[in-house]
Amino acid sequence: MKLRYPRLEINLSALRNNAKRIVDMCGEQGVSVVGVIKGATGIPEVAKAFADGGVDIIGSSRLEQLRDAKDFGIDKPLMLIRVPMMSEIEEVVELCAGSLNSEVSVLEALNDEATKQHKVHRVVLMADLGDLREGFWDKEELMDVALRVENEMDGLFLAGVGTNVGCYGSILPTPDKLQELVDIAREIEDKIGRKLDIVSGGATSSLMRIADKNIPEGINSLRIGEGILLNRDLGLFYGYDLKGMRKDTFTLKAEVIEVKVKPSHPQGEIGVDAFGKRPEYVDRGMRKRALIAIGKVDYGDPDEIFPKDEGIEVLGASSDHTILDVENYLGDLKPGDVLEFDINYASIVYLTNCKNVRIGFTEDKN
Ligand SMILES: *Cc1c(COP(=O)(O)O)cnc(C)c1O
Repeated sequence: MKLRYPRLEINLSALRNNAKRIVDMCGEQGVSVVGVIKGATGIPEVAKAFADGGVDIIGSSRLEQLRDAKDFGIDKPLMLIRVPMMSEIEEVVELCAGSLNSEVSVLEALNDEATKQHKVHRVVLMADLGDLREGFWDKEELMDVALRVENEMDGLFLAGVGTNVGCYGSILPTPDKLQELVDIAREIEDKIGRKLDIVSGGATSSLMRIADKNIPEGINSLRIGEGILLNRDLGLFYGYDLKGMRKDTFTLKAEVIEVKVKPSHPQGEIGVDAFGKRPEYVDRGMRKRALIAIGKVDYGDPDEIFPKDEGIEVLGASSDHTILDVENYLGDLKPGDVLEFDINYASIVYLTNCKNVRIGFTEDKN
């Protein structure tokens, strides 16, 4: 059968390796891992690779993705890592072992529903420590709500507390910042007279604390997505190179549909491009260019795909076309040829959400 393009190839051996490495690295420091699958739109094979790599819990911000994981036969506990919508409470309780929370009204609804379904739903209360996305800002309110869950809501189990950093407010998970969460956990534990199961100290960016071996004692869980899927951001933005992590997890393949020598500066009066923008065009004279049949609707931003071959440069894109400068490419390009690209986190989210893009799975050959 002829392969269709564009394709996103996912190396499941590499993903399992990454999941296992992260689980081992965190485990050595007493930290368990929620494997977050939303970065790859919850593709069940990806969730399976996370599960096989040993994550304790599968997490996503989307119930649809957790449902797919369950239907695929993944038997790990599922956690909704977004505050539940009121409109999805019934399904949250039915499907998920637990969820992250920050609103009393939502907790009440979860409690009612769990009681109705004869279940106990595990909740992690989120503390906003400055990133300004979800979570209780007022720590007194957080304490009060924790006590209410513990003492008055029989359908809920107060599993623990968590925080999110580095998402909206770009706050770093410094040891001090994470210590604030441990302090909150200790205060709640004093008040309820028992230990909390979960003190969830953030996402991939908190792996810097694991690498530095200075994660505050008491943080015992992290929610990791990008760090397993790609493990690119920590190195790129913060210079952290975690050992034994594979970067060849995702490969984008797109097909050449035109190769011609053309001017590098548009000819005629310049207005706006397909998206109403006015890009700068550099005049480099006549250059050999290739068009590939993939565009912004597939991957989002052409600056976020990276040709694997030497001598190929991404010039720009419209919805369904990407324009490459191939003047310095040594091979012979023609329509029907397939070019490969590395991609980043944002591109993966788009590509795995796009029905024009075929998903393929590979395993290491041995
Ligand atoms: C997306 C998300 C994560 C995972 O983030 P990564 O940076 O991909 O590890 C963790 N926690 C919450 C609440 C999230 O929304």
